[in-house]
Amino acid sequence: MATFKEFRNNIKPNWCPGCGDFSVQAAIQRAAANVGLEPEQLAVISGIGCSGRISGYINAYGLHGIHGRALPIAQGVKLANRELTVIASGGDGDGFAIGMGHTVHAIRRNLDVTYIVMDNQIYGLTKGQTSPRSAEGFKTKSTPEGSIESTLSPLEIALSAGATFVAQSFSSDLKQLTALIEEGIKHKGFSLINVFSPCVTFNKVNTYDWFKENIVNLEQFPEYDPSNRVAAMNKIMETHGMLTGLIYQDKVRKSYEDLAVGFKEQGLANQKLDLSREDFDKL
Ligand code: SF4
Ligand code: MG
Repeated sequence: MATFKEFRNNIKPNWCPGCGDFSVQAAIQRAAANVGLEPEQLAVISGIGCSGRISGYINAYGLHGIHGRALPIAQGVKLANRELTVIASGGDGDGFAIGMGHTVHAIRRNLDVTYIVMDNQIYGLTKGQTSPRSAEGFKTKSTPEGSIESTLSPLEIALSAGATFVAQSFSSDLKQLTALIEEGIKHKGFSLINVFSPCVTFNKVNTYDWFKENIVNLEQFPEYDPSNRVAAMNKIMETHGMLTGLIYQDKVRKSYEDLAVGFKEQGLANQKLDLSREDFDKL
């Protein structure tokens, strides 16, 4: 059985020292080993952004896609080979701005893909502009007088869109993050894991210390029931989206693959790739 070290390759990440994305990478590698995967059973598909580089740093199948399009590619990979464990990853700009349409529809489609968002509330790769996750009043070179737009809440949107698995974590909490990624991989359906992953170079507001002061860990609420969608929405709103842990999981609703007629029985993975139109019609 592969250890987490076998999910490493010889490419040195070029993230800034201290970037939260290092820990997210480590958590993915640990989670993949902990659930018993071998590198050839995993595909990591990423979008554009500092975080998008992650697919190149993990020893697995990978594709560094285009901006906001990690999820269409990841879903295509999963549809083509259901035997693969598919992780999609990217940043808040990638997934919640240009890619938001894909995010919402991937959530409601409920294919068995784990989506890990490295949320640093800024555009890091392009040197620090306001993102949909930036707080109101947030000053950057794109909003020098402070952002006048409201902050997008991906957790509320995910629940409204019919998500079957919603979690949030902090890159510094490697234990919690690894455990949540394991649960996301094991979940039969789409799982969204939003990760606070500080950008130490451009975001001087949402720092490690700021997150430590503001995060509300769901462990504080032993009575919390993650199968209750209304309670989940309430808790997200009560904590202003700062809660971490498993927020919501629906273990009953079937995944896209399980519902698609003919798909389950035949499996596109077993089909020839050069199918004729006639062959397609028989699927
Ligand atoms: Fe990380 Fe920010 Fe540096 Fe990008 S610019 S690598 S997000 S610290
Ligand atoms: Mg970002």
